[in-house]
Amino acid sequence: MKRIAVVDNEKLKDKQKKLHIQSLCPVNRGGVECITLEKDVLGIDEATCIGCGICVKAASDAIKIVNLPEILDKKPIHRYGENKFALYNLPTPIFDKVVGVLGVNGIGKSSAISVLGGLLKPNFGEVGKKTSYKEIIDFFKGTETQLFFEKVEKGDIKVSYKPQHVDLIPKAKKGKVKDLLKKVDEKGKLDEVAKELEISNILDNDIKKISGGELQRVAIAATVLKDANLYIFDEPTSYLDIKQRINVSKFIRSLLDGHTAVIVVEHDLIIFDYMSDMAHIMYGSEDVYGSVSGLKPVKNSINVYLGGYLKEENIRFRDKKVKFEARKSFSKKKGEELVSWNGLSKKLGKFLLETDTGSINNGEVIGVLGENGIGKTTFVRVLAGEIKKDKGKLNENIKVSYKPQYLESNDELVMVVLKDAISKYTNQIINPLNLKILFEKKLNELSGGELQKVAIAYCLGKDAELFLLDEPSAYLDVEQRLIVSKVIRDFAELQNKSALVVDHDLLFLDYLSDK
Ligand code: SF4
Repeated sequence: MKRIAVVDNEKLKDKQKKLHIQSLCPVNRGGVECITLEKDVLGIDEATCIGCGICVKAASDAIKIVNLPEILDKKPIHRYGENKFALYNLPTPIFDKVVGVLGVNGIGKSSAISVLGGLLKPNFGEVGKKTSYKEIIDFFKGTETQLFFEKVEKGDIKVSYKPQHVDLIPKAKKGKVKDLLKKVDEKGKLDEVAKELEISNILDNDIKKISGGELQRVAIAATVLKDANLYIFDEPTSYLDIKQRINVSKFIRSLLDGHTAVIVVEHDLIIFDYMSDMAHIMYGSEDVYGSVSGLKPVKNSINVYLGGYLKEENIRFRDKKVKFEARKSFSKKKGEELVSWNGLSKKLGKFLLETDTGSINNGEVIGVLGENGIGKTTFVRVLAGEIKKDKGKLNENIKVSYKPQYLESNDELVMVVLKDAISKYTNQIINPLNLKILFEKKLNELSGGELQKVAIAYCLGKDAELFLLDEPSAYLDVEQRLIVSKVIRDFAELQNKSALVVDHDLLFLDYLSDK
């Protein structure tokens, strides 16, 4: 069986430890050099490794060894180095179609996009090799990808790419939104595109002073203003509310004009379904390898994804199916009323929040959906006691734990931050969210998705009766969303706790909410 060994030598600084790991390997002990140590760099020979896992146990943060499915017993498209990440297969751009890519983060999505965009020349596993387009075209012979690279070779493909992390844009750019967009406007359609994306009113604002949702739409505008025929959007709906998500989906689809191809990576399954014509599923093992399934009709791809099994490839990429089961209806819940409010109002600057009557029962999870800017977060902060109401009734004698929308990080260790959750809910929260591997890290070393999971665990670990979670699906990939929604749901049921969850992902909310 072919296997991939990935070694992060940055995390293996101690020479004695490396020698110790080498001495543990049964293949080395048998006289064959499987684990090597050259110039202080620990390497693993994948051909002789028997996959016993002993070295992984000894240095789990630095060594990963994964058995590859049979179908991938072939050359990778690209390998970043000896004992580094390997990418197998690419998504297929199809002209006049939106092709969606569904899958977890960390398995080569950006690498695949870079290869398609001509930013990364694939080496077919031979590190340092300079590949010609002829070799690339030969590699994909008989597929749609061959036709695509023939066009790339002729210079007929121009790619425009919207990156995943739009929050990095204000760190790299400065100036007014309008001036920045003018610089990339190769089509002369700035005003038209701004109107469609509803950003005309912020064109004179400084890029550093606009919200996440506005930044996302500015990034989309910058992408489509370039005169390209392959547009790639990496997570185009993060930070957007449901109405904006639908608007952006329609807008992206409107780019299809007979000679344009669109590829979209998206984690909101309902939007994914709405936006894409066909889809690939990306599977693999985080930081080790990634591959792409064949193209499927979009509905089928979502069902396959939830099922966790690719029939054609004979690959199970998740142990269990995700099922959206019918739940006990709210009216049958016996929980007593925990908190109620009536005619609340709160004025913040020019903004006024006013509410009707409402209540939350014990053990109940309530989903809150709505446009940005209508006071969802203000309402949550009033309930959490973070800000005082101006008028109305609210029984405030309940213990509340609150996860804010925007997360802050510092140099505290995850293990210290999560001490309550670790002591009370290891099986219920820590293990399903796979947080143990982050224990030794500082908060400011975490990715957006990791920080979100830690913030959710921190919030649920507090001694409280009502848990308020503001946009817990932000930064999470599709798999993480499914897991987090189940964790919140199970936690409320088993602990008889109540939760109010504000989010924009309809399926995520539907899965975890009673009403
Ligand atoms: S997994 Fe491979 S490299 Fe590691 S100890 Fe076992 S045989 Fe050696």
